[in-house]
Amino acid sequence: MEIKITEDRSGKKPHPEDSQLGFGKYTTDHMFLMNYDQPQGWHDARIEPYGDLRLDPAAMVLHYNQEVFEGLKAYHLPDGGIGLFRPEKNIERMNASARRMVMPEIDTPMFLQAVKELVLLEREWIPRSEGTSLYIRPTMIATEAALGVHPAASYLFYIIVGPVGAYYPEGFNPTRIFVSDDFVRAAKGGVGEAKTSGNYGPTLFAQKQAAAKGYTQVLWLDAKERRYVEEVGTSNIFFYLDDELVTPPLEGTILPGVTRDSVLQLSRHWGITAVERPVDIEEVIDSCRSGRLKEMFATGTAAVISPVGEIGYKGSDYKIADGGVGEISRKFYDEITGIQYGHRDDPFGWRMRLA
Ligand SMILES: *Cc1c(COP(=O)(O)O)cnc(C)c1O
Repeated sequence: MEIKITEDRSGKKPHPEDSQLGFGKYTTDHMFLMNYDQPQGWHDARIEPYGDLRLDPAAMVLHYNQEVFEGLKAYHLPDGGIGLFRPEKNIERMNASARRMVMPEIDTPMFLQAVKELVLLEREWIPRSEGTSLYIRPTMIATEAALGVHPAASYLFYIIVGPVGAYYPEGFNPTRIFVSDDFVRAAKGGVGEAKTSGNYGPTLFAQKQAAAKGYTQVLWLDAKERRYVEEVGTSNIFFYLDDELVTPPLEGTILPGVTRDSVLQLSRHWGITAVERPVDIEEVIDSCRSGRLKEMFATGTAAVISPVGEIGYKGSDYKIADGGVGEISRKFYDEITGIQYGHRDDPFGWRMRLA
């Protein structure tokens, strides 16, 4: 694939200090774009100066939410190279999300080339301090201008990138999680397992309520019985219970996280029993009280591993063990970030070198 590059080196955007980064606040000078229609398929791959999109007000993404996206990161490696972490998993998942939303898929080599060329062009934007990286946000939207619910005939795929620091202001510190039994995120048969924007807007109300009570995130229960744990915010959830690692199974309502999969593979590699099974919220509360629950942590690209220190459920708060960062959470965090940043061996071949 030929990518046409139009550079903007006017330096209009100042680079933020690493300490100011936060998450998702900054974008770089350029973006990747390509269009889809029939009979052309994907065409007109280009990198342009970062800027506004022009969309017809009837563009179907704005009315019917035909949109899918991904999130991954690029890291500086100790030898001056640049690495990605398991990008083929994100590509696979974006294509799975696209199939669910009746959108066109993108070949892995084409997708990777787009990520690679954009990241290399923007390499000066990749921050260097510990825990920072360049966040990559591939996005696909339906652009056909037509009112009426049907799959669009034309699409835009674009990639924007931006330097990021810690996802939570807490950093690698325990969060307080609010268990929502009023609101739900996804029901069986819905689109919970697709990374599509329609899954996120509806969570804001519960998120705001939780924040007002001093919690960092919402823990979602299953839509039918409001009993089985699903995920935390935009992360998967793990429990270290009776010396076993437990996480809810992927049955259509949970996003299949790349970090989740990495934790499962690592634990098996280390000889820690890892089980995918339904987890009843009452079991979480009981095991918290009895001390069987030793650790609880969320997993996702943004925060990697986010230890949970306390959960609020039906008006009471329950501390997880001593409320601090557990040994297992720390071990996964150190290992996964060690592989990502090139400080540790990579027995599974998860690191992909771009340069
Ligand atoms: C992206 C996301 C995750 C985490 O997936 P990773 O691949 O580990 O980043 C978990 N849950 C939801 C709802 C998500 O959107």
